[in-house]
Amino acid sequence: MVSERINSIKQALPEGVRLVAVSKYHPASLIQEAYDGGQRIFGESHVQELVGKYEALPKDIEWHFIGHLQTNKVKYIAPFISLIHAVDSEHLLKEIDKQAKRCQRTIPVLLEVRVAQEETKYGFDPNELLLFMESGKWKQYTNVSIVGLMCMATNTDDKALIASEFEQAHQLFLQIKAQWTECSWGMSNDYMIAIQYGSTMVRIGSLIFGERTYN
Ligand SMILES: *Cc1c(COP(=O)(O)O)cnc(C)c1O
Repeated sequence: MVSERINSIKQALPEGVRLVAVSKYHPASLIQEAYDGGQRIFGESHVQELVGKYEALPKDIEWHFIGHLQTNKVKYIAPFISLIHAVDSEHLLKEIDKQAKRCQRTIPVLLEVRVAQEETKYGFDPNELLLFMESGKWKQYTNVSIVGLMCMATNTDDKALIASEFEQAHQLFLQIKAQWTECSWGMSNDYMIAIQYGSTMVRIGSLIFGERTYN
């Protein structure tokens, strides 16, 4: 079941767009099922849950941390995390750099930009993000590699609004002439819109695994 849903989503994705199967709140057995069907990238948003799953499941899984990450928890995932999607402050970037150094590795990250209309606490404001990149301050964090941008659109049925938000993020991505390759946008409800606006990574949970019991 799970693998069939994954395959049908993958068939609808343009070449070059990767699927992050968002497995938060779902048991390791379902992840194993998806893994057996060939899926290797999984997204989680709670540190403790992720660490437990990391320990229980095959070691060639590419774990992505997609949620809001608290600074004091970076150390638990630093040894193994493949990509941190939602870096929303320099403070967090600095801590990831510090923990990456301890593990003698470089951790790939995305910066989260706040484009949604709805009230949200997280993400760089677009202008703040431009200034931060222009300042070159990020260069001192030598054990993180910023590889792109992440955003979440407003949770709405208004497709035009969602499209305008992804477009804003994509324009920002193009404007920042860094060597970035990744645009992480699109979830179960809006990934078909996201792929029209430069997404290279869609983060899909409920469409694959069903509704989560709590969120
Ligand atoms: C939960 C979550 C998703 C997946 O949401 P679905 O609507 O279940 O596809 C994607 N991105 C983030 C940041 C999430 O927290």
